[in-house]
Amino acid sequence: MNQRNEQMLAEMGIKPQWRLRAREAREEQPQPVEPAPVVAVVAPLEEPARSAPVLQISNPVAAEELPAAQQDAVASMDWDTLETSIRECRRCALCERRKQAVPGVGDRQADWLFVGEGPGADEDEQGEPFVGQAGKLLDAMLGSVGLKRGEKVYIANAVKCRPPNNRTPEANETASCLPYLARQIELIRPKLIVALGRPAAQTLLGQDIKIGAARGKLFEREGVPVVVTYHPAYLLRNPADKARAWEDLCFALDRMAELQR
Ligand code: URA
Repeated sequence: MNQRNEQMLAEMGIKPQWRLRAREAREEQPQPVEPAPVVAVVAPLEEPARSAPVLQISNPVAAEELPAAQQDAVASMDWDTLETSIRECRRCALCERRKQAVPGVGDRQADWLFVGEGPGADEDEQGEPFVGQAGKLLDAMLGSVGLKRGEKVYIANAVKCRPPNNRTPEANETASCLPYLARQIELIRPKLIVALGRPAAQTLLGQDIKIGAARGKLFEREGVPVVVTYHPAYLLRNPADKARAWEDLCFALDRMAELQR
């Protein structure tokens, strides 16, 4: 692990745990030599399967619920038309209370697509996904595996408008917004998608997902591999799971390396 990754792990809040454990270990065994590598001591976690079976998902959620004409229009949009269409969208009630829609940000030819749930207050204000506290953690998570916002990485959300009080988007809202995400995926053609949290995973995969059970498995959406991990906002509330999220990102990194071989 290089210095930068270690710094990012520290920003994720993992390294301090390691320091604590190292101190405890020293007390038990008073002859330390060199600090153990972070990876060896972050947590006594299960190793995710090295090469997981691919789970085929062929029916993305409720895309067919939209009138065919609307689906077709979005399905053939170029980037600029798509972003304008998202910004002007009135397909569901979320448009009524938004300050602005948040289409997505990053490299339009990214290898990596990270998909969150929906904009929060900061994103609604600034028009960019993951710019608040959860966004800072997401940036640290990216850094912990050598990735950076905007560099071979695109970040989007399952819904493009802020749900009131940051509630979970409702099924009709994710269904209304899905053609936009589907078109983003088609335009970007990412090598791998990381679903951040349950709503994103369920939207992408069209099935009920429990993050704990889905971690370490390789799913697929229309030919694109999908890996599932915890949402950064969840991790802010449950920092003990940050090490698991890092493990999931390492799993995704391994899958990406396999794809590029
Ligand atoms: N949470 C999300 O799911 N997306 C954002 O853009 C910000 C917070």
